[in-house]
Amino acid sequence: MNDIKINRLNDGIASLTPEALVGFRAALGGQALLPGDIGYDQARTVWNATVDKRPGLVVRCAGPSDVVQAVRFARQHDLLLAVRAGGHNIAGKAVADGALLIDLSQMRSIRVDRAARVAWVEPGATLADFDRETQAFGLTTPVGINSTTGIAGLTLGGGFGWTSRNFGMSIDNLICVDVVTADGQMHRASEKENADLFWALRGGGGNFGIVTGFEFRLHALGPQVLSGLLIHPFADAPKLLRDYRSFVAQAPDELTAWVVLRKAPPLPFLPKEWHGKEVMIIAVCFLGDPGVGERALAPLRTLGRPIADVIGPHPFVGWQQAFDPLLTAGARNYWKSHDFRELSDGLFAQLVEFAGRLPTEECEIFIANVGGAMARVPVEATAFAGRDANFVMNVHTRWQEARDDARCIGWAREFYNATRPYASSTAYVNFLPDEDGERLSSTYGGNYAKLREIKAKYDPDNAFRVNQNIKP
Ligand SMILES: Cc1cc2nc3c(=O)[nH]c(=O)nc-3n(C[C@H](O)[C@H](O)[C@H](O)COP(=O)(O)OP(=O)(O)OC[C@H]3O[C@@H](n4cnc5c(N)ncnc54)[C@H](O)[C@@H]3O)c2cc1C
Repeated sequence: MNDIKINRLNDGIASLTPEALVGFRAALGGQALLPGDIGYDQARTVWNATVDKRPGLVVRCAGPSDVVQAVRFARQHDLLLAVRAGGHNIAGKAVADGALLIDLSQMRSIRVDRAARVAWVEPGATLADFDRETQAFGLTTPVGINSTTGIAGLTLGGGFGWTSRNFGMSIDNLICVDVVTADGQMHRASEKENADLFWALRGGGGNFGIVTGFEFRLHALGPQVLSGLLIHPFADAPKLLRDYRSFVAQAPDELTAWVVLRKAPPLPFLPKEWHGKEVMIIAVCFLGDPGVGERALAPLRTLGRPIADVIGPHPFVGWQQAFDPLLTAGARNYWKSHDFRELSDGLFAQLVEFAGRLPTEECEIFIANVGGAMARVPVEATAFAGRDANFVMNVHTRWQEARDDARCIGWAREFYNATRPYASSTAYVNFLPDEDGERLSSTYGGNYAKLREIKAKYDPDNAFRVNQNIKP
C-alpha cells in the first residue's frame, strides 16, 4: 500500500505511511476511510452539488472519543482538518480537498428528558431526527425549515425557523455543549463553564472546536399547528407585498408569515394552468390555540384573490417537512442573502423585477419574518449579531446543469447588488456563499473583535479553518 497523502494545515502535503494509520484505526470506534473505500463518497458528498471535494482521509466517528482521537492525530501530523455534520452548508464548508475529514453524520442519537424538558443531541442528527424525538413528547425547540439540515451547523451559526419569533433562536435555547478544542481536549461549555467559549459557539460557527453534544431547552408545542400556504398570482405581488408588510407589523409572536416568490411547482392542489407560472406564496404558522390563530390570520386570508388557500391544522412534524420536496440534495445551488430592518417600497420594486425573470423553475426568493423573541436577546449576549433584523432574505438560486452556472450565479449577484441599498449591515452566516468571507466583520459587527480574541485563545493556529473563518 502506498503512503497516504494529506494536506498540511498550512503549506505542503504530509505523507503518512500505512503503518501510521494502523494504531489510529485500532483506537477508533468508527472507521478511517481512504479514497475508493465504501462510504468515502457518501461522506464527502454534500447537499450542494457545485461542491465536489476529495478529502485525503475520512474519519467516520462513532462517538466523542473518535472526535478526540481524530483531532489529536491531525494536530500531531499537522494536517488540514474539515468537519462535516449534516453537510447542508451552502458554501460547502464541511469538506476540503486533501483534508482529514471528521465526519459526524453517524453520531445522531437524541435523548429527551421529558420531565426536565431538555434534549441531549449528537451532532450528526438532522432536524427530522430532532423533530421526531421531541414531538413524540409534544416538545420542540426552534430549528430550521428543511428537515434534512444538520442540527450542528445550523445551531453553531444561530438557527431560526417557524417557531423562533416565539421561542428565540436555536442558540437562545442552548444550555450547554461538549466541545473538543484544537488541543484535542474535551470541554463542557455553558453560561457557567468556559463561558467565553460558549458565547462564541452561539453564532460563531465551527471556528472554536468540534461540538460532540448539544443540550437544548424544550417547549411544549403541537402535535398540530395551524399552518399552510396562500398562493397568489404574481401579478398581484406589488400590492400584496405592501399588504403583507402591514399585516406582519401587527402580528403576535406566535404568528410567523414568510414570503416565497417562485414559479409554481406542480402541487396537487394547484390548478394545472398555474404550474410553472410565477406566484407569490405566503407560508404561515401559528403556534397557539387554532381558534385564536384562525382569527389572527383572517385579515391575511381575505387579501387579494388567492389561487389556493391550504391553511389548516397540520402535524408540526409534517409542517417542518413541507418544503423538503423543493430543497432536495444534489442540485446545483448558489445563495445570496441580506438582512433588512424593514421592507421598503424600493426593495419591493427590485423583488418584483427579479422574481419576474427567475433563471430556472427551481429558483426562489425567500423572505423570512424574524424578530419577536429573537430580537429581545441583547446583541452582546451571544456571538450572533443580526438581532435587529426583522426580515432575512435568502435567494435560493437552484439549477441542474453546470452549463447554467454563470447565468444563474450572475442573476443572483445582480439581484443581491440591486437590493443592497435597502439592507442592514449584518447577514446570516449560515446563508453566505463561499466568496462572502469578506462580509464576516460586518456580519458579526461589534462582536467580531471579541470573536477573534476567543479564537486566538482556543485555536491560535487556526486548526478549524474550513468554515466561514474567523482568523485568530
Ligand atoms: C435547504 C436548506 C434550508 C435551510 N434552512 C435553514 C433555516 O430554515 N434556518 C436556518 O437557521 N438555517 C437554514 N439553513 C442553513 C443551515 O443552517 C446551514 O446550511 C448549516 O451550515 C447546516 O448545518 P449542517 O450541519 O447541515 O452543515 P455542514 O455543512 O455539515 O456544516 C456546516 C459548518 O459547520 C461546521 N460544523 C458542523 N458540525 C460541527 C460541529 N459539531 N462542531 C463544529 N463545527 C461543525 C462545519 O465544519 C461547517 O463549517 C438551510 C440550509 C439548507 C441547505
